[in-house]
Amino acid sequence: MYEVHHYVNGTVVQGKSNRFGPIFNPSIGEQIGKVALASKEEVENVIAAAEAAQPAWAAQSVVRRARILQNLVTILYREKDNLAKALSREHGKVFSDAQGDVQRGLEVAEFAAGMPHLLKGEFSQNVGGNIDMYNVRSPLGVVAGITPFNFPAMIPLWMSCIAIATGNAFVMKPSEKDPSVPMLLADCWKEAGLPDGIFNVVHGDKEAVDTVCTDPRVKAVSFVGSTSIAKYVYETANAHGKRCQAMGGAKNHMAILPDADLEKVADALIGSAYGSAGERCMAISVAVCVGDDVADKLVGMLKPRVESLHVGHSMDPKAEMAALVTSEHRAKVKGYLDLAEEEGATLVVDGRGFKMTEEGFENGYYLGATLIDNVTAEMKSYKDEIFGPTLQIVRVNTLEEAIALPSQHEYGNGTSIFTASGNAAREYANRVEVGMVGVNVPIPVPLAFHSFGGWKNSAFGDINQHGMEGIRFYTKTKTISQRWLNDITAGAEFAIPTLNN
Ligand code: NAD
Repeated sequence: MYEVHHYVNGTVVQGKSNRFGPIFNPSIGEQIGKVALASKEEVENVIAAAEAAQPAWAAQSVVRRARILQNLVTILYREKDNLAKALSREHGKVFSDAQGDVQRGLEVAEFAAGMPHLLKGEFSQNVGGNIDMYNVRSPLGVVAGITPFNFPAMIPLWMSCIAIATGNAFVMKPSEKDPSVPMLLADCWKEAGLPDGIFNVVHGDKEAVDTVCTDPRVKAVSFVGSTSIAKYVYETANAHGKRCQAMGGAKNHMAILPDADLEKVADALIGSAYGSAGERCMAISVAVCVGDDVADKLVGMLKPRVESLHVGHSMDPKAEMAALVTSEHRAKVKGYLDLAEEEGATLVVDGRGFKMTEEGFENGYYLGATLIDNVTAEMKSYKDEIFGPTLQIVRVNTLEEAIALPSQHEYGNGTSIFTASGNAAREYANRVEVGMVGVNVPIPVPLAFHSFGGWKNSAFGDINQHGMEGIRFYTKTKTISQRWLNDITAGAEFAIPTLNN
């Protein structure tokens, strides 16, 4: 049984609150550690350390800051498998998927290593009266990130790499379910040469989150997690004068048109619905089939593949999906499968009875893959996010209906369309009320140099994660008008300056 404490000012700091949260290994279904949950005062101490360290960091040249990011990239590649192992142990996801979790995060470090170019401002020469005008982007000061359990490497790296490269000090409040990877990331930052106090980790629950969202020294809060908490964090941080981006839950639809290559669609659905046991905010959880013919053929193709998906522990090289994060979460997912049945949907493949037989893993939080047909938009099991290894099939008759379903859903994170028609794909991409769209691409997750963010109840706030939006989120603009001349006319001018005077 190990303990995870905080990381402040370049060193591990023992929690003093005497409150702890359990850490489980989902593959074996046992508690393996505990994480310190910070008190308000402990969080305030972390913010104070960050505040003290930030001005010197911001004063370093952007090239020096970028070099730390370059070092970090090298270290993260070297440490990728160690990070992925620690991640699989606490999260439960399959090792190859955990490697992907680290990889997607380090790609943001690669992007942020280009900060000297990315931070370049705009300059307008001689805008009038021999005046030049330019703008610069300044760091905000102390900024914070609050992250979910399902990407314990990628999401902390999404936030911290850009926040730090732009000159801020970062306070990380990770998920208490898998807190070890952010601590390993702290070691990587330190080895990369980051000054103490710029990357800090404070573990905790609502008390820590509330402190971060209300302390006046924290200038911006980035949040990723469930919608109800995202909304709460957004409103609380805003009410306390902070900039906030808060990403929430999802229900991602894939539209399948009659002209789509169904073999490719089946491949795409198997990976995007059941990969990471569906615990991804960009998992496809609804397949919208245009026409009964498409639905019947697709269900026929998916059924044997879903039945034979290999469920194994996280280090089983044959495993295609592994355990869910906690037994409570498994019970919640099972509850939704019961509900879908009660609501009249058809459980074509029913994973509820799955039993793990491999010795040593019998008590893990496993659930078999489930395929549900005849789902309708009125069902609660359709409206809610399930976040488990299940795919729901909704049957419609037209492209119009396929566009309307995700557009009218309360979530709007990602969606995709599979079709051979450029016209239909264009129509779908242009009109669908969703933030990230794929055309013949199952999981349309933008790469580091583009920005990640959904619409409606999938994201609160206007500025997305990473890419140029990430840089805007962690900086504020200053616009400077300057004149260096000895022909400045004497005397006051009372009219507002325009290009006419
Ligand atoms: P969660 O909302 O339970 O937890 C997220 C963070 O909020 C954690 O750090 C947690 O400690 C904190 N938290 C939990 N309860 C709180 C409370 N009452 N008050 C204050 N803070 C609280 O989410 P989760 O279960 O860890 O993650 C899964 C969810 O995250 C899913 O809904 C998923 O769709 C979503 N998610 C969204 C995105 C996205 O970009 N839109 C990405 C990944 C995950």
